[in-house]
Amino acid sequence: MRLAVPSETRPGERRVAVVPDVARRLAGAGVDVVVQSGAGSRAYFADADYREAGAQVVADPVAACAGADLVVGVNPPEPDQAATVPEGAALLSFLSPAQSEPALRVLAGRRATVFSFDLLPRISRAQGMDALSSQSTVAGYRAALAGAEQLAKFFPMFMTAAGTVPPAKVLVMGVGVAGLQAIATARRLGAVVKAYDVRAAAKEEAESLGATFVDLAVKAEGVGGYARELSPEELERQRQALSAEVAASDVIITTAAVPGRQAPVLVTTAMVEGMAEGAVIVDMAADSGGNCELTVPGDVVAHGGVRVIGLANPASDMPTHASFLYARNVANVLALLAPGGAWGPDWDDEIVAGMCVLRDGRAVHGPTAELLGLPGPREAGHAGPEPAGPEPAAPAPADLAPADLDRAGPADEAAS
Ligand code: NAD
Repeated sequence: MRLAVPSETRPGERRVAVVPDVARRLAGAGVDVVVQSGAGSRAYFADADYREAGAQVVADPVAACAGADLVVGVNPPEPDQAATVPEGAALLSFLSPAQSEPALRVLAGRRATVFSFDLLPRISRAQGMDALSSQSTVAGYRAALAGAEQLAKFFPMFMTAAGTVPPAKVLVMGVGVAGLQAIATARRLGAVVKAYDVRAAAKEEAESLGATFVDLAVKAEGVGGYARELSPEELERQRQALSAEVAASDVIITTAAVPGRQAPVLVTTAMVEGMAEGAVIVDMAADSGGNCELTVPGDVVAHGGVRVIGLANPASDMPTHASFLYARNVANVLALLAPGGAWGPDWDDEIVAGMCVLRDGRAVHGPTAELLGLPGPREAGHAGPEPAGPEPAAPAPADLAPADLDRAGPADEAAS
């Protein structure tokens, strides 16, 4: 099997889908890994490291993808990148099908098979493949560091001869994978952390990491462990109940998201105006519209002495380990798509079926079929996967250490 790793082209993107360590394991399992020259350089992986790992390094994306069975990337492809996927070959990346319509049309025309990490079923067996979680872990860590860096105060309490400095007060809104990592990181730095989420299960998880949970009357459990969208009245009640907590915080980290929807505005301009000068808001939902009314993605907005940081693509700011984890996720998925190093997805596996958007150019994901105006899973005569949801019982990993990924992971089987 031939695996292509072209460079990421999204502006500012520094990650790469396969790192040399994973390339070595795949090559050892009989996979021909072909990497575009410079693909790993922004994550500090040199062409020489890939060559040394047994991969072939070629000059451009067309040469990298030529003859590939599978092309792997991090970001959704642009239409011109989709056109480099060979006829009948497969693609694996984050896809956000709703935002990738032009590229999906190109891929459907090329009879491609397309797998999206966004649709990975969040079941226990898939945890080692869960790139949403691994990248959210990196993003949550980055968000806490951004808050600590921008705050003109210490995070920890300091007792010095000159006097005692109280610890910073951090409020984390949205306690999913990223929020839990933001809590853990802010706590390690010594801050006093409060956390808030509309899902009841988040309370225990936040408390297990040392945060105090802010219990408001607003609850919004959605399907499969996700939150549902709040009604305008509920959102208003939530903002009113949160105002005092917001005003008392030195740093607010927001990560609230509802799959497939614009991020909810949790912090209004009036709430920002109630904060003390020098306070910092780190908005991790900036890419999906922002949890703060003042957020500008990729920018810092100063408003009445409060700084609002719109974190754009935070996982890319720590490209070495973000790529390391992503590449492990890719390798773990490959164990199902190419068992023993030979291309041949196990279509009876719910993870394979769940991630699949197009199969040989046919839409097997209902919303994608609708988007492209193609026959859906039923009309096409095969059972298509439903949109994935998480398994409510499984806890979100706050600290996804490499060791966790090693635990009896399919990648290990594939590479051994
Ligand atoms: P996400 O990125 O979709 O959302 C982030 C958080 O924002 C969520 O906790 C959500 O409840 C919260 N939120 C949404 N609207 C809000 C509002 N108005 N106010 C406050 N908070 C709001 O979440 P995620 O990190 O993808 O995790 C979603 C779920 O998936 C969680 O239940 C998590 O435990 C679960 N999960 C399961 C697995 C598994 O393997 N089974 C893996 C990862 C995550």
